[in-house]
Amino acid sequence: MSITKSPWIIHYNGSSCNGCDIEVLAVLTPMYDVERFGIINTGNPKHADVLLVTGAVNEQSIRVVKQIYDQMPAPKVVVAVGICASSGGIFRECYNIIGGADKVIPVDVYVPGCAARPEAIIDGVVKGIGVLAEKQAALLRGDTDEAVPGAYIYEGPHDDDGSLITEEEVEE
Ligand code: SF4
Repeated sequence: MSITKSPWIIHYNGSSCNGCDIEVLAVLTPMYDVERFGIINTGNPKHADVLLVTGAVNEQSIRVVKQIYDQMPAPKVVVAVGICASSGGIFRECYNIIGGADKVIPVDVYVPGCAARPEAIIDGVVKGIGVLAEKQAALLRGDTDEAVPGAYIYEGPHDDDGSLITEEEVEE
């Protein structure tokens, strides 16, 4: 079975000004209508193949970004939409900004722009589909997790610092 022709995406706003989010909505709604290509938006990370991140990651969104990513099954792809998600953009010097999404999770595709144009976002998702196919093929070949950039196997819950919570700690 191939999933490369109908990837499901999930969108998360790390701390965006909403400019890139509006463009993501344009991609998903009838103006650009990516659903005609089988690309569907889901609110459930467990159903998603592609994570679209908009905005820089800040102190409050670190944990959420990680949790969404962790809950997605491998193979999976992350697309940073706009300069803020790619590098922190115009907010990178702000006191609470960590940087782009790649400070927290592996990013596979960077979409330029402020705001990112819908056509560029679609291009980014299409590039992501190619990466997804490579990762899927690597997993089917039995390559290790390290050989599949971005692939992640959920190990368990994490604490506020992002550290793995051990079974002993859970039982306490
Ligand atoms: S890249 Fe521009 S439009 Fe997008 S979230 Fe950052 S400031 Fe807003």
